[in-house]
Amino acid sequence: MSVYDKYETVVGLEVHVQLGTKSKAFCGDDASFGAPPNTHISTISLGHPGTLPRLNKKQIEYAVKLGLALGSKISPTNNFDRKNYFYADLPKGYQITQDRMPICIGGGMDVETEEGKRHIRMHHIHMEEDAGKSIHDIAPDATFIDLNRAGVPLLEVVTEPDFRSAQEVDVFMNAMRQLVRYLGVSDGNMQEGSLRCDCNVSVRLKGAEQFGERCEIKNMNSMRFARRAIEFERKRQIDLLESGGKVAQQTLNFDPVTGVTSPLRDKEDAHDYRYFPEPDLPPVVISDEYLAAIKAEMPALPWELQAKFIKEYQLSAYNAKLLTEEKGTALFFQELTKHTKNYKAAANLMINKINPWLSEEKQSIDEFPISHQQLGALVQLIDDGKVSNTIAYQRIFPELLKTKKMPLEIAEAMNLVQSSDGDFLEQLVMDVLEKNPDKVKAYKNGKKGLIGFFMGAVMKASKGKAEPKSTNALLAKKLSE
Ligand code: ADP
Ligand code: MG
Repeated sequence: MSVYDKYETVVGLEVHVQLGTKSKAFCGDDASFGAPPNTHISTISLGHPGTLPRLNKKQIEYAVKLGLALGSKISPTNNFDRKNYFYADLPKGYQITQDRMPICIGGGMDVETEEGKRHIRMHHIHMEEDAGKSIHDIAPDATFIDLNRAGVPLLEVVTEPDFRSAQEVDVFMNAMRQLVRYLGVSDGNMQEGSLRCDCNVSVRLKGAEQFGERCEIKNMNSMRFARRAIEFERKRQIDLLESGGKVAQQTLNFDPVTGVTSPLRDKEDAHDYRYFPEPDLPPVVISDEYLAAIKAEMPALPWELQAKFIKEYQLSAYNAKLLTEEKGTALFFQELTKHTKNYKAAANLMINKINPWLSEEKQSIDEFPISHQQLGALVQLIDDGKVSNTIAYQRIFPELLKTKKMPLEIAEAMNLVQSSDGDFLEQLVMDVLEKNPDKVKAYKNGKKGLIGFFMGAVMKASKGKAEPKSTNALLAKKLSE
């Protein structure tokens, strides 16, 4: 047993979700990503004296939606606070946030890990605004500032220290990404920083009750890096403890190039921020009517659809998971079940044909050209034995992309309909047997594997139109005569 196995890793996350609102949290500036630097700014986001913040209703709505999805309690009265600190990318000199009363309290989410289902509890979710961006890698001796992001609305989701491995963190972040996309509150794009997290990591001896001292790794916006950072940090802390040292509470930066964490600054005490109530924003009161209205428009959640797909459509857990990864795919499949009762075949069509086609063509399911009616009819055609799976996927599918015609019409026009017509099949089978007397003899002498050869020959002679089940039965019958 290695010394690392004596310890348990404990992780708690502070997840930042950048909301997909049109405008910023407290002014009308465009909140979208990717514009030329310092073009989405105004006197308010620049913090000019005399300007006043104004609330963005969408931020409240999105916070409530996420809270309801996670089963949090929604606070009826919400106040904003100022968190003061000095930094070049924070023009006001403070960040508007919620310190005293966050909008969502408690809640949790189940995640499926390698070791089975785990419940991760939420501590709270609060609303805040983002800072601008300092860019250190353009010039060696200068820092560039882009304030487009200053004032963009964020939700900070704080979990309890319920994670026990980097893998659990990874699975959870993927589930968060999926959830915010389902809810339509954020694009969850980690590369663009729409979803990022601070990872608080500590270790303790297995079986110990008390948590160890923790370090906070800042701003992870790639799960691959987050996994490496947590792994590195876990080992660093264990090495330190094993050599008689102590872990000091610190804020760390992870360098993906060296794979090492290093201290950013000693963790400030909360009062260093001199929090105080934001005087320019009135309290936000969330009425029962408002809450009921939001509840009424909540979309189906990923885990709900997954459970439904397993229960109502008898899909395997694996297929249900694949089909619910993206909301568009899940809703498309749900619609498709209205056009065929062979849910399994419909799921296979989506997983093995439609999804690969979409990713190859870089298209979204929302613009998929084949209608549910056509796809339902295609599944039916396979079910009825009129065409094989291969013919349906390889020959008819490409035609459906180009036309609104129904699959049967296409199959007939292309002469692809399989025949289980007795006379037609009998003729083919007899021809094949007559042409291969040696093989017939060998079969009759016990080489039963030759049935495959005969099947292949009949199929070939029929140009793929012989229906396999009837062909097989007929061959077996003729060969035993
Ligand atoms: P603050 O950052 O304001 O001090 P908390 O102490 O409540 O806030 O914790 C912030 C985050 O750190 C939470 O996500 C929490 O789960 C996590 N955390 C707290 N204690 C530990 C610990 N010993 N090990 C790992 N994570 C921890
Ligand atoms: Mg913190």
